Amino acid sequence: MKKLLFFIIAILIISGSSIYADTIGYTNISDIALYKNNDYSSNISDVLDLNTRLDIIKEKNEWYNVKTSKGSSGWIEKYFVTVPAQKFVSNNTGYNVNIRTSPTTLSKTVGQLKPGEKAKYIDTYHSWHIIEYKGKEYYIASWLADIEYDASQEIYLLYDKINIREKSSISSNVLAQGNKYDSFNVIGENNGWYKIKLDDGSTGYVAGWLTTYNKNYYSDGNLGHKKTIDDLNLRSGPSTKNEKVQTLKKGAIVNVVGSDNGWDKIVTQEGLVGWCSGDFLSEINPLSGKEILLDPGHGGKDPGSISNSGKFEKYVNLEITLKLKDLLESLGAKVYLTRNGDYYIKNKERGQMADKLNVDILLSIHHNSLNNSDYFGLSTYYNTIKYKDTRYGYDLAEDIYLNAITINGVYRDGILDRNFEVLRETNTPAALIEIGFMSNPQEEMNIHNGSFQDIMAEKIADGIIDYFEQ
Ligand SMILES: [Zn+2]
Repeated sequence: MKKLLFFIIAILIISGSSIYADTIGYTNISDIALYKNNDYSSNISDVLDLNTRLDIIKEKNEWYNVKTSKGSSGWIEKYFVTVPAQKFVSNNTGYNVNIRTSPTTLSKTVGQLKPGEKAKYIDTYHSWHIIEYKGKEYYIASWLADIEYDASQEIYLLYDKINIREKSSISSNVLAQGNKYDSFNVIGENNGWYKIKLDDGSTGYVAGWLTTYNKNYYSDGNLGHKKTIDDLNLRSGPSTKNEKVQTLKKGAIVNVVGSDNGWDKIVTQEGLVGWCSGDFLSEINPLSGKEILLDPGHGGKDPGSISNSGKFEKYVNLEITLKLKDLLESLGAKVYLTRNGDYYIKNKERGQMADKLNVDILLSIHHNSLNNSDYFGLSTYYNTIKYKDTRYGYDLAEDIYLNAITINGVYRDGILDRNFEVLRETNTPAALIEIGFMSNPQEEMNIHNGSFQDIMAEKIADGIIDYFEQ
């Protein structure tokens, strides 16, 4: 197994980036069409959610030919696909570690990873790494395995003046600073922090949420929502000579992803991609007219979870809620809070408040805890007891989840149906987020960090925009 792995790595290095058979990518935009050919005038074969996993079969010009786990296949422009580095897990213990069929120690063992042995990493779910073993996907406990990278895998910084530290901790010494667009070779990953190689050959750590694998990230700044001011032709390229794909109705909201010579490249709400004359698009506030009730969980006599270092959940819930409130207001929404200070309200009253205020959605914000400090990850919740349409609260929970887990260093813990009182005691579409585990020392440190909270608030807001755009 080990020998074969080195052989494969050697092939990858020799042949450069032309081998894509084993490459996994993820869509980096909500609702994007998959085309039959590498051409925007061709037919659509599927419409994909944000963060859909794609098996990349081959590339041609600036497009990937991909397959989804649902079995659909087609072409998508590389721009809309983020390809994470090839990673491996290695057994970091002195003993054999079980490989299992599900992310729980109760599931069946199908094999073992010997000390020092490696396997291909695919993803992390519910604190277990998903790995490839004998050509199939299985699970290995994350606390018994390290994530390692191939040489030459790059990661990009998202902001200016980012600290690179000696260890994977906010309190560790700063070795250097990096700026937006800087790229580094990444060699390891540890609970949301990335181990990178510095110019002088030494290594340091950078917080994952300040980084991206997406080479196209510098164009993210162009992302904006606009509205058509008249019926408008969508074309396969940036000129009237290009084929007309569709006519957009006046007042349609579109996502602008680029521009060229007075033409805007856009993605429609149905996921179609094309070009429009920029003269017929006007700026909008994507949440204008929307009313939102934010609920920072717990308060007063109810502290919520108590963290590994002894901090109370009620405070961090309010901190991030206030950041999210400012952001949603800047996007045009009217935002109410169930509490704006440290006092107690019953969960039932929080749910009922949403109905009394007649808001469009209710979002309850929490941080998780378990008596096992190994567990980490982000989860969202909905409740199906009162909703006749089970997708009512689910859509909100899903849209927020899919956006939040695009943050590097945030790991998946699922979208779950739970009988939470705050979700049950309302007729308003409602979701709850558990941003991370306060009982996990590393994740606790991350969730108390201001830059982490800022980016998390942005991604939750993006999820809310996606919810209203469906
Ligand atoms: Zn809570």
